[in-house]
Parts: sequence; structure tokens; C-alpha cells
Amino acid sequence: MDMYDVIVIGGGPTGLSAALNFGRGLKRALVIDEDKPRNRVTEESNGYLTQDGISPLEFRKLAQKDALKYEGVSLERDRVVDVEKQDGHFIVSTSTDAFESRQVLLAAGLREKQPDIENFEQFYGTSIFYCPWCDGYELRDRPLAVMVDQDTIGHLVMLISNWSRDLLFCTNGVDVLTDAHRTMFENKGFKYNEAAISELSGTGGQVETITFEDGTEAQIKGMIARMHWNTNFDFLESLDLKREENGKFTVDSFSETSVEGLYVAGETKNNFAGQLIDAASDGGMVAKYMMMKQIQADF
Ligand SMILES: Cc1cc2nc3c(=O)[nH]c(=O)nc-3n(C[C@H](O)[C@H](O)[C@H](O)COP(=O)(O)OP(=O)(O)OC[C@H]3O[C@@H](n4cnc5c(N)ncnc54)[C@H](O)[C@@H]3O)c2cc1C
Repeated sequence: MDMYDVIVIGGGPTGLSAALNFGRGLKRALVIDEDKPRNRVTEESNGYLTQDGISPLEFRKLAQKDALKYEGVSLERDRVVDVEKQDGHFIVSTSTDAFESRQVLLAAGLREKQPDIENFEQFYGTSIFYCPWCDGYELRDRPLAVMVDQDTIGHLVMLISNWSRDLLFCTNGVDVLTDAHRTMFENKGFKYNEAAISELSGTGGQVETITFEDGTEAQIKGMIARMHWNTNFDFLESLDLKREENGKFTVDSFSETSVEGLYVAGETKNNFAGQLIDAASDGGMVAKYMMMKQIQADF
């Protein structure tokens, strides 16, 4: 088996920015990516300086072109199914092959769980989003539904009111609102409905109606919904990786995990969603930390 300096698991902005830096650092880096980024559902990526409004597909093409022009960088389109450490090296298995490396960078993004609402996925990424920093501008001043849960009520109410004041807060039948919340909604002039949502409807990716199980419905032109994320990837089961109480991987100040040589970057490291520019920045930084370790060892 060929020995790579680094295997990067995940070819999103985190992994490709790392790969670009590995290439420039004269390292042999293999990016393994199954090409299922979370943002494949959306048409526009906003907020990345010089690329504002670019389609995620185009962004990925440009990022791959930048990274793959370096002779040491290659890309394998496959799913990683296992990572093992043997005699100080890593064996990374995919559904069709196995590769060996000195170090591994985990840049696989997040596993995302959407709310359980009929037709939700028809509109997710076109008129339903979770991140107002990414998509709030396009939804500004529209009548919006906001799906809240226990953890997000206080935060989302305040945050989303920056982009629109025409808000309908929904809990989808979960008993999370207190009298203080209801009074606050009334004082601010926001609507709320605590009934379960029976379905969403609309046309061409544009959500138009939200129907509740109490028989009422409301006309909306967008939705901000709370998502749930984790990094419980099956392919990590062979490794004894330590985590913090909040689910994040335990890392040192160079983003090295409890398994020596295995690093983590971007959304996988944060265990929370951010933006493309944050992911690319972290991928580049962690690649440099990883190379310093190799350069020191080889000197
Ligand atoms: C609906 C939506 C809209 C968004 N809009 C914006 C926006 O407007 N602006 C913005 O800046 N950000 C936006 N984002 C956020 C942005 O997409 C993320 O912050 C960014 O993609 C995170 O980069 P990453 O490289 O960490 O993860 P990802 O981009 O998710 O890349 C991870 C990669 O790892 C791969 N992978 C996972 N598991 C495996 C495996 N077992 N084997 C091989 N490969 C694997 C995945 O297929 C994927 O290609 C949006 C996200 C969503 C969901």
C-alpha cells in the first residue's frame, strides 16, 4: 500500500483548504470524499468574500481545481467506512479500497437531523434555512415561520427579529413555551402557535402555507428552522476517541484529537454549523499545525 503523508476525510471547504495547504507544503495528501455536503440542497452560498452568492457546486469545482493543481494532492470519490491505527500509521478503508497515511484529518462536516415535518425537505435550502447569517438577507422583511425548541427560544427570537418583524413562532407540538415567552411574543407583536405542524405546502421550492393540527393555517414566505447536528460517524468506531460532555472531540490547541496523528477541523471540530469561510480558514490552519508536526519529526 502507498503511504500518504495525510489522508483528509471530507472534501468540503475544510478538507479542500487543508489539501491546498498540504500541496503547497510539498506533502502527499489524499482527499476522500463521498460528495454529499450538507449545502447541496441550496442554490446560493452567501457571505464568502470574493465568492458571495456563488452556487455550492461551482464553489466546490473551484476549490477542487485550486487543491488538485498541486502534484502531491489527489482526490478519491468514495465513502470512508473505517479508520484504524496500526504501528503508528493509519489505515483508512473506503467501500472499495484501503489507503495508508502518517496522519489523518477529519473534515467530514456534520450529520444533520431535520425536524420531522411533512414536506420539509421540499423547501429546505430554497425557502427554509437554519442560518440567518447565511440566508437572512434574502428572507428580510418577509412573513417568516420560526421553528424553536427548548434550547433556542430566547436566542432565535432576538436574532431573527433583526431580519423580519413579521414572525410566527412554532414549537411543533412540543411543550417548551413558558408564560414569560408568551408575554414576550405578545409585547413584541409576534405570533405563535404551539400546535403540531401537519404539513408545509408551496410551489417551486417556495414554502407558502404552514398547516397546524389544530386546523389553523398561516401564509408564510420563508422559514428558519432549528436543526440538530452530531459527529457520531460510524467510520470512527475502531478508534478510541475522547469527547467532551457537549459531544465535541477532545483536542489540544493544535486540533489534534486523543489519538495521536488524528486531527479534526471545520464543522466536525465545532460540532456545530458555521460558514464556508470559517471552514476554509480552519482547514488551512489545522493543515499547517499538522505539517509542523511532520516537519519537526523528519528534521
Ligand atoms: C441549507 C444550507 C445553506 C447554507 N448556506 C450557506 C451560505 O449561504 N454561506 C455559507 O458560508 N455557508 C452556508 N452553509 C454552511 C456551509 O455549507 C458549511 O459551513 C460548510 O460547508 C462546512 O464545511 P465542511 O467542509 O466542514 O463540511 P461539508 O461542506 O459538509 O463537507 C464535508 C464533506 O465530507 C464528506 N463526508 C462525510 N462523511 C464522509 C465519509 N464517510 N466518507 C467520505 N466523505 C465523507 C461529505 O460528503 C462532504 O462532502 C449552508 C449550509 C446549508 C445546509
